[in-house]
Amino acid sequence: MDSKKKNIKGIRIRTISYGLILIACILYILVLCATVELSMEYNSLSKATDDYVASVQEASQVTDASDYLTMETRLYVINMNPKHVDNYFTEVHVTRRREKALDVLEKQNNSAEAYGYLRKALEKSNELMEREIYAMKLVAVAGGQNTEDFPQEIKDVSLTPEDQALSTEAMLERAEQLVFDENYQEMKSLINDNINSFFDSVLAATQQEQSDSSQDLKTAMGRQRLYISLLFVLNIFNFILVITLIVKPLQVYIRCIKEEKMLEISGAYEFKYLALTYNDIYEVNAANEAMLRHKAEHDALTGLINRGGFDQLKQLLAVQKKQIALLLVDVDKFKEVNDGFGHETGDKILRKVAKTLQENFRSKDYVARIGGDEFSVIMLEAAADMTERIRDKITKINRQLKNPDDGLPPVSLSVGVAFSDDGFTDDLYRNTDSALYQVKEHGRCGCDFYVPQ
Ligand code: GH3
Ligand code: MG
Repeated sequence: MDSKKKNIKGIRIRTISYGLILIACILYILVLCATVELSMEYNSLSKATDDYVASVQEASQVTDASDYLTMETRLYVINMNPKHVDNYFTEVHVTRRREKALDVLEKQNNSAEAYGYLRKALEKSNELMEREIYAMKLVAVAGGQNTEDFPQEIKDVSLTPEDQALSTEAMLERAEQLVFDENYQEMKSLINDNINSFFDSVLAATQQEQSDSSQDLKTAMGRQRLYISLLFVLNIFNFILVITLIVKPLQVYIRCIKEEKMLEISGAYEFKYLALTYNDIYEVNAANEAMLRHKAEHDALTGLINRGGFDQLKQLLAVQKKQIALLLVDVDKFKEVNDGFGHETGDKILRKVAKTLQENFRSKDYVARIGGDEFSVIMLEAAADMTERIRDKITKINRQLKNPDDGLPPVSLSVGVAFSDDGFTDDLYRNTDSALYQVKEHGRCGCDFYVPQ
């Protein structure tokens, strides 16, 4: 990796992506936790209601059973049918709704205070039973019923001497009084009061629990909303990042590539790296291309434009229709130089001719090597009025070449010249060539200008 790439600064898309994934995971977990919490709070809220309903139902069993005992006692007192005694004791010993309800409620989450009310109600109900059993005994005795088959509780009751002394009717009256009088009603009221206190206490506890749970539910919902909002914001942030860090740089790159330009070094680290790599390749390619183009258009020996380059120039100047002068230059008797001094010396002469031509013409003129010992000069913005100046140049060049001070053999040039007002044409080349031919024919070393007929 070169130093340019090592020193790249910028946000790394990879780092940002990992960060965003991490934050998203945390937020998703938080949303999940809040949802679980929410459902737990909802369950505890509905459980509080269910518990309340169950408690009320169970506590009602105590009232119902107590009322049932009252009803069976009163029915027995009124119609003296022992079936009611059976019903009564079936409730007391078998059905046992009051005790069972208390057992269930004891296991529920009710407060000690609430449960205390129920215990008191049961105690009062049991107290009332003594009165009821005594009344039943009175009825049994008054009715002359055989108490042998009666439950032990009735058999165990002994009537007071005053009651024993009562007549049958008075006994029945006394029994009726025991289960219908004010005292009995008061005790019944006490039982109901305790049950109602239990209801009130359970209701208050349930309301408190519901209020706590609904508060917690609201908090959990608030948290869940917050996390979902944060997730939404994270998504928006993600979109913005994708657009600014990925989409925009890509658009810029595509534009640069279409315009065949180097890429702009901007955006995230990865894009900068990509741009630098692309630009490196681009530069190498451009340099290679320039080198190849130069090689294709230039002569390796002299560095001048070669035949290919000259042909391209010809096409360009054919279109441009400007005033130009074309010079065709040929080294005189160059074969003899090669034969006499060797090919290497011949090459040196060719390089020297190239350099001399370049030095003596303007920088805006084109000097080309178009053959073995053939050169050409294309002079821009040149017309027939420059004839003498061109002749002087050629004379000067020939003087230099014929009087070398570099140890190389003397040479001379034959030059044909023609002008055109219409850019580069086939005629121009033909005319120049015929002018050169004239020079060669008339003793070489000099120049000749094509004169239109
Ligand atoms: P003329 O005055 O009629 O032009 O006679 P000339 O001997 O110069 O004849 P011509 O122009 O036909 O000969 C060109 C010679 O140039 C022939 C060839 O051996 C030589 N030559 C061509 N290319 C090179 C080159 O790259 N290096 C060297 N040393 N000689 C070359
Ligand atoms: Mg020649």
